[in-house]
Amino acid sequence: TGALMEKDNTKEAWDALAQKEKPVMVQIAPAVRVGISEEFGLEPGAISTGKVVAALKALGFDYVFDTNFAADLTIMEEANEFVQRLTKGGDLPIMTSCCPAWVNFCETQYPDLLKYLSTCRSPQSMFSPVARYYFADKVLGKKADEVIVMSIMPCIAKKYEVAREELGKDGIIDTDLSLTVRELARMIKEAGIDLSTIEEAEFDSPLGYSTGAADIFGVTGGVLEAALRTAYTDVTKEELPDDAIEFKAVRGFEGIKEATVNVGGTDVNVVAASSLGCARKLMDELRADLAAGKAPKYHIIEIMACPGGCVAGGGQPFHGGDYEKVKARGAGLYAIDANKPKRKSHQNEDIKKLYAEFLGERGGHNAHTYLHTHYFDRSNPYAKKTEAECTAE
Ligand code: SF4
Repeated sequence: TGALMEKDNTKEAWDALAQKEKPVMVQIAPAVRVGISEEFGLEPGAISTGKVVAALKALGFDYVFDTNFAADLTIMEEANEFVQRLTKGGDLPIMTSCCPAWVNFCETQYPDLLKYLSTCRSPQSMFSPVARYYFADKVLGKKADEVIVMSIMPCIAKKYEVAREELGKDGIIDTDLSLTVRELARMIKEAGIDLSTIEEAEFDSPLGYSTGAADIFGVTGGVLEAALRTAYTDVTKEELPDDAIEFKAVRGFEGIKEATVNVGGTDVNVVAASSLGCARKLMDELRADLAAGKAPKYHIIEIMACPGGCVAGGGQPFHGGDYEKVKARGAGLYAIDANKPKRKSHQNEDIKKLYAEFLGERGGHNAHTYLHTHYFDRSNPYAKKTEAECTAE
């Protein structure tokens, strides 16, 4: 009946590229650059960043940007949110919110814990309003609805995320279309392009530059590690030395990884869970502690729905149960981070410029308008609250 067919949005993408009235921008997620290589006979985990950029330009995208830019932005907002909660008695633990499958799981299974979710949007959903309301306006002189914004993701749940009505403004949806790595690979093959031999190209500027902290978003524990690199500086006003920025305790592919990190005299307990089974364990434990009047065990909880994180995402090339391929993709991301000249999100000069020209303060009014969101109790699908009710709360 076709009920189990994979959703394919490549026709919509070709149609968008065929029209000439609106420039088409595209962003690629961190895990895409190490996932797509296998589709073209390259080694698992081979770093294909410049080749993907070149292929996207050859397909006809007008501007090729990096979701990593928005991953740095996510860290600026999320680390700030964590430090505010830590120092001003806010709700802890803070739970990461960049995985839409996890957010949906929390909304449907643990609505009583929604206040712990970070209000930060995912990098995909931070990138699109910045492209639409900052780049389009300042650089192209276009209105928000005079551009098309697309994304290439390792993820099927990102298609669901872009359809969430609150991730848009004045009736304009922020992200027009989200494609998986497999869909992009299909388009590249349909165009007769060989990714393995194409000459590399650079991302467009200014939404194409990122630090190493952004690259590791694609692997389990990476968001936590990136956030700690910046939260440490936010609290202590000092930089972590280069030999102390890799938080090895939260690396690796175990389901649950814990660590305690001293941040300015406070022992911060962190945990990273990869898979919803592991998420359920942590949420049940948190619920039980709260019911018993006990202090929660952790200050920061990172959850990614896919075991291993986005390197094993549902939109990546099928690995057929060969988990060594997933590990190789993760190793590729750690290698990109290790070789970047800047490895902390708050060192991204283009992000600083974005705050100065457009967003204002971290956590301020504009940042909330374009970079934050809210959640819904979806435990009863027949009692969905309206956006107005949620905002009033
Ligand atoms: Fe998507 Fe999986 Fe990454 Fe979550 S962990 S954002 S579901 S690819």
